[in-house]
Amino acid sequence: MADLLTLDDALTAGLRWLYDTEQPDNAWMQHHSQQIHAAGNRFLAFAPTSNVALPIVVIGVTKPTWKDGPHGPTVPANPLTPTELPYLAAELERNGYAVRSTWNGFPGHTGSVGLVRPAHLSQVAAVDRYRAGCQEHPARSVFCECDAWRAGFDRAAPPRPFVSA
Ligand SMILES: [Zn+2]
Repeated sequence: MADLLTLDDALTAGLRWLYDTEQPDNAWMQHHSQQIHAAGNRFLAFAPTSNVALPIVVIGVTKPTWKDGPHGPTVPANPLTPTELPYLAAELERNGYAVRSTWNGFPGHTGSVGLVRPAHLSQVAAVDRYRAGCQEHPARSVFCECDAWRAGFDRAAPPRPFVSA
């Protein structure tokens, strides 16, 4: 297995995907986001659009664990540290990506940064095509399993790992 990316390289790869990668106009992809796994039990996830038509970058724990609280094993045992989400937001600002807001983070397993600059239009369009569902089987919507529906996911361009020299 290849070495995992550093968080910085994962961030670079994800931002290039979000802002510079053109999706084919016959591709679609889920709105949840594209995840890039990084070293240190972390991942970054990039969503071109969410409840508003603006991108989100998520930092999270790849393999979360839980410990006992008052209501059973519901307390994150290996959460993000208090500095990780603020650091991600600061890194984005430092690279010229203005931050709308941040939410979650410590003591949870994931934290999110909302960005001001819209993603590449073709990225948003690909998510919109996903939301529209299978055009050949409208009744099955996004849950269709036909070859035509699956092929659209295969045509989508994934984030390419970018490793700094
Ligand atoms: Zn179908």
